Amino acid sequence: MIEDERPPLADSLWTATAPAGPACPPLEGEVEAEVVIVGGGYTGLSAALHLAERKVSVVLLEAREPGWGASGRNGGQVIPGFKEDPDEVERIMGPTFGRRAVRLSAAAPDLVFDLVARHGIACDAVRAGWIQPAPDEAGVRLQRARVRQWERRGAPVEWLDRGAVSIALGTGLYEGGLLDRRGGSLQPLAYARGLAAAAIRAGARIHGRTTARRLERVGAGWRVATGRGAVRARTVLVCTNGYTDGLVGGLAQALVPVTSVQVASAPLSDNVRRSILPGGEAASDTRRLLVYFRLDPAGRLVIGGRGAYGERGIRAAQARLRRLAQRMFPQLPDDLRWERAWGGFVALTEDHLPFLVEPEPGLVAAGGYNGRGVAMATAMGRVLADKASGVPDAELDFPVTRLRPMPLHALRRPVIALAVAVKAVQDRLGLRLAS
Ligand SMILES: Cc1cc2nc3c(=O)[nH]c(=O)nc-3n(C[C@H](O)[C@H](O)[C@H](O)COP(=O)(O)OP(=O)(O)OC[C@H]3O[C@@H](n4cnc5c(N)ncnc54)[C@H](O)[C@@H]3O)c2cc1C
Repeated sequence: MIEDERPPLADSLWTATAPAGPACPPLEGEVEAEVVIVGGGYTGLSAALHLAERKVSVVLLEAREPGWGASGRNGGQVIPGFKEDPDEVERIMGPTFGRRAVRLSAAAPDLVFDLVARHGIACDAVRAGWIQPAPDEAGVRLQRARVRQWERRGAPVEWLDRGAVSIALGTGLYEGGLLDRRGGSLQPLAYARGLAAAAIRAGARIHGRTTARRLERVGAGWRVATGRGAVRARTVLVCTNGYTDGLVGGLAQALVPVTSVQVASAPLSDNVRRSILPGGEAASDTRRLLVYFRLDPAGRLVIGGRGAYGERGIRAAQARLRRLAQRMFPQLPDDLRWERAWGGFVALTEDHLPFLVEPEPGLVAAGGYNGRGVAMATAMGRVLADKASGVPDAELDFPVTRLRPMPLHALRRPVIALAVAVKAVQDRLGLRLAS
């Protein structure tokens, strides 16, 4: 069970199966460092690791334990690219940073699998590819264009027609799909804990059970106050993403946290197991409210999708996923046991792209991966490390932009909840037509 979490989000397969993390004692007293990081997910942990490897002194503060947030709960799908297609990213960011950001996102899975190998992180990492299937003609058109865009950039991406995608996935529900050989999967919490252990070995100080409560300017640097201590540093990196609180004015208003939930079955029989994703890929579809699925190494079907805010809504979303799985994969036994159900917050942004901002000199924040953070947050952590170790903004792999709180942010949650309900109905209609 995930500690300090509401019951419908807490029964995580990853918490049940990950090796223990390193000891991260709470901060006691006043300490100094060159860089202080707030938040111990992939963004903060990757930044800490890359800084420590460059011999920059770094302290990371995490309110619970490394990987407690989305990084320890996600689908473990290592996905290249942003939510938006590369041409669109270049259009939004302009040719220089657009091209750099696309390259960064394309190479983000390389970084993940390299870190896993270099630091010997035991996290069931498998680089068997990622499939993005389309349930309807609109999705097929989108995917074919996406394949062309990546092919132009020399990426190992190919189109799978209806027959090929049915065999690859083990369901006849999709009309075609994109196979991207750069992607793969891993045990997300084991990866987060492995990053934390590697960062500590490299010299980072990580304090769990330590909430950053207040930020104040002190001379040319910053003081971050916690319950029983404080850190003074010249740079603060805020990496709290979907769990952002009021520490930095306007940051929580720059993103909308939404729940994503998952359910995991008991291990499937060998026969059934061989029929679902026999190539070992991970998959997430192009539906308006996307559904993502894969098998874990024990042969459990793990399937996830958009959740809800209230407890009843979350449980209903998890029940819908179990029903959807039985419909998608009729080969599943009717009496299949579902072992676990959990979830967490992903952070959405208005333009569907992550952000890197510096609201005040030396105060830097990044996040907003729109559900694509396993690879991208790891890569962003390295960009943050570049920035905090003195690389000029003009030379970074991702643009530093203005912090842009969303207008009428307080209305966003109810509006998104409504939009989610409408999209779910549209998807259900689409699915019925497709099946
Ligand atoms: C259910 C689910 C499924 C997903 N599936 C996928 C997937 O398959 N593939 C993919 O690429 N992405 C996926 N994502 C998204 C991905 O998990 C995130 O984008 C990524 O983990 C973000 O990492 P992060 O470090 O920025 O934030 P997080 O991992 O959320 O970490 C933020 C941390 O900040 C801490 N914190 C907050 N405030 C404070 C404070 N004041 N002081 C100290 N600490 C603080 C929190 O405790 C938390 O641990 C999924 C997300 C969810 C929830």
